[in-house]
Amino acid sequence: MNDVHLELINELKDIKLAIFDLDGVVYRGHTLIPNSDKVISYLKEKSVKIVYNSNNSTATRQMYVDRLRNFNIQCEIKDFYTSASITAEEITKLKQNAIIFVIGETGLREELKMRGHTVVNVDYEYDKVDFVIVGLDRAFNYEKLTFAQTCVLQGNAKFYATNADSTLPVANGLLPGAGVMVNAVETCTNRKPIDIFGKPNPFGIIAMLNDTDMSPEQAVIFGDRLNTDIIAGNRAKIITALVLTGVTKKSDVIKLREDILQVHEIDKDLNPDLVFDSLEDIFVK
Ligand SMILES: [Mg+2]
Repeated sequence: MNDVHLELINELKDIKLAIFDLDGVVYRGHTLIPNSDKVISYLKEKSVKIVYNSNNSTATRQMYVDRLRNFNIQCEIKDFYTSASITAEEITKLKQNAIIFVIGETGLREELKMRGHTVVNVDYEYDKVDFVIVGLDRAFNYEKLTFAQTCVLQGNAKFYATNADSTLPVANGLLPGAGVMVNAVETCTNRKPIDIFGKPNPFGIIAMLNDTDMSPEQAVIFGDRLNTDIIAGNRAKIITALVLTGVTKKSDVIKLREDILQVHEIDKDLNPDLVFDSLEDIFVK
């Protein structure tokens, strides 16, 4: 990437806010995607505000700061919106100082505690629990599921989820995603989560627009997943840019666009405005 004469393609030249999904866009596992750091610094030099948006609720925002700094990308906690931080923000709007049972990991527990909520364990009085919040939990077990069921069915707990991704991409393949835990609670309570705060819902993007004082047409999301990143961006009415460095292949986009013409019930919000082989293709060639 030769940065001397770089110029953004026409569709992106007026953007003021760039939202980056992380895995599959900025890095893959522990490896930086080539030149993603340079694209980010170029945009910063052009005074584009950069924020990062991950659906993974297991890590704290500080853990993400450390990860990007290891790749020499300068960033701060407030630049990150994870499904955990977005969930904590939205739950706080519903109730202050709530009692919450979490199926989830450090990221989600810490974000909730930071906002003054009490996160309780399976031995707590079920009828005092306000919310059951479900995210990815790699120590998920029958005991947690039983307590979540009791809180919802016998107590007064309202059921929410951070995200419902079916899979979690890792370096050498796929692991089960948060959706598996959400489905388990759904099945044994016969209730759906009242809201899912992560992508494809636009809670996070709306918060990013509000926090940065931007309008939707000034913002773009770069994502690698159609059914989370691209739908969320389209629902928030910002520019959506799919990059093919993660889970989506060019053939998936071609098939989607054929289906949109032919299949009646397909969600048109899956269709990205722009498709790039990788982030460095956002410049005029
Ligand atoms: Mg991704």
